[in-house]
Amino acid sequence: MGLRHSSRCLLLRRKMAEADSSERQQPVKSSLSQSAQPSPLPKPVPTTHHVPCIPHTPHVAVLATCPGRGKIAKFISPEEMTSRDYYFDSYAHFGIHEEMLKDEVRTLTYRNAMYHNKHVFKDKIVLDVGSGTGILSMFAANAGAKHVYGIECSSISEYSEKIIKSNHLHNVITIFKGKVEEVELPVEKVDIIVSEWMGYCLFYESMLNTVIFARDKWLKPGGLMFPDRAALYVVAIEDRQYKDFKIHCK
Ligand code: SAH
Repeated sequence: MGLRHSSRCLLLRRKMAEADSSERQQPVKSSLSQSAQPSPLPKPVPTTHHVPCIPHTPHVAVLATCPGRGKIAKFISPEEMTSRDYYFDSYAHFGIHEEMLKDEVRTLTYRNAMYHNKHVFKDKIVLDVGSGTGILSMFAANAGAKHVYGIECSSISEYSEKIIKSNHLHNVITIFKGKVEEVELPVEKVDIIVSEWMGYCLFYESMLNTVIFARDKWLKPGGLMFPDRAALYVVAIEDRQYKDFKIHCK
């Protein structure tokens, strides 16, 4: 299953730039000026120990450090978050998820992949890596999965629980708030892993490591990955103006 990807990072940064920096008295200038730069690629997370899994409890202090997004000292509910907090937990902002959901090619490809293969999902245990709003978990549940576990490190997981409940799927879907690399699931293995991990130029965001980690830890032998392959097409171009500006400048 191949997928085209949308430009969610830039969108978010635009939103951040527009946000009211005076929400808190603390200056956010340095964050905003940094935001023009790509964030450094995250290092793989050590996997020597696993913290016990905590089913998500709102307003509880949890170290929420989504890879590639810096750190926030404590977990705050989305209602309390300011633009400064969103800078450090960018996926907490519904805007970025709205944009992803509205990307029809992206969202419908996932939906079709699951709805057109209901025989594959029927009575299966599914893991959604980076579940966000829970959209892929809900597709999997509607496709007939016996149970779906979603793992999400950003505080958007709070909303996802409400969305899942509104769709009456809370008996089939369980969301865990935390990093994939640290959460423990109540099952040893899963039959299927679904994930939307692709970033700019496919690999930006470096979520692929996380998906591979989840596959190696939880996927049954012969289990399925959605998607299980991706293609990156590259073409060389020369932008004369940019080159002059960046390289031939005096
Ligand atoms: N599945 C959702 C969201 C995709 S965006 C959808 O298709 O709409 C990727 C999500 O993965 C983000 O919400 C991000 O916070 C989460 N994520 C990235 N790395 C993660 C990690 N190591 N552990 C848990 N969640 C992670």
